[in-house]
Amino acid sequence: MLFPTTCPNCLRENRAEFTDSNIHEVTCQHCQARYCVFVRKQKFEMLFDLGTRALLDGYAREAVASFAAALERFFEFYVRAYALERAAERGGEFGEALRTLEGTWRHVVSQSERQVGMFALAYLLREGQEPEFLGGKAMGTDFRNKVIHRGYIPGHAEVEEYAARIFALIDRLLTELGDTAQHAELAQEQVFAAHLAALPDNVTAIFEEHPGMFRARRFGQEHLSKSRATPLSVTGSQTPLNNAQAFQQALRERSQGLSHFKFK
Ligand SMILES: [Zn+2]
Repeated sequence: MLFPTTCPNCLRENRAEFTDSNIHEVTCQHCQARYCVFVRKQKFEMLFDLGTRALLDGYAREAVASFAAALERFFEFYVRAYALERAAERGGEFGEALRTLEGTWRHVVSQSERQVGMFALAYLLREGQEPEFLGGKAMGTDFRNKVIHRGYIPGHAEVEEYAARIFALIDRLLTELGDTAQHAELAQEQVFAAHLAALPDNVTAIFEEHPGMFRARRFGQEHLSKSRATPLSVTGSQTPLNNAQAFQQALRERSQGLSHFKFK
């Protein structure tokens, strides 16, 4: 999956391939200048955007795998954010908390059922409630398994409905997490900082905020909370959007931002 980058030396475009680390070393094909693009985006956002792009391009079946992976990585993100939040409350040091967390995650990294178990406990401890959405219906688990494990070829509308469920669930949990999400984001910043420190002097560092669907909503909320003195309240005349409407709205807001994704 390629995305456009702008050379800081000659301002011409070079396409780079998204990496798992979100760190992209580029040599300009026009002027040979070297630069490094750091993309501030979480794995779950990247996967959800890739799924959305695949769906918009007509690859409904392929999109399911990306949406399912986005949810799994979001559960990991939630556990990390919660664990780092608790460590901060205890007055722990961030680097040490992160190392302990990563050591713990190694025990569950290769089994998604174990990860869901960790998430369920994190949710219970943080919210004091049962994660009732883990029942399967809210997560579309049957549909996901049918597509991924039994070769079912879904129609566009079915995948859109599945995407809307996943979107609603992640959006709700992100809203509940609020600023706690920043603890997990700080971990990515530290990886970036370490890479930045090791870059040779002739390489220019560029930090990019890619507008993912969730990021846009969160920045929107921050913007609202800064511009209003009192918290927003939902008035009685406003009907809350259902999952499909919320997904469609986010898609309208973000489809422009997703156009930079291009399948090779
Ligand atoms: Zn250049």
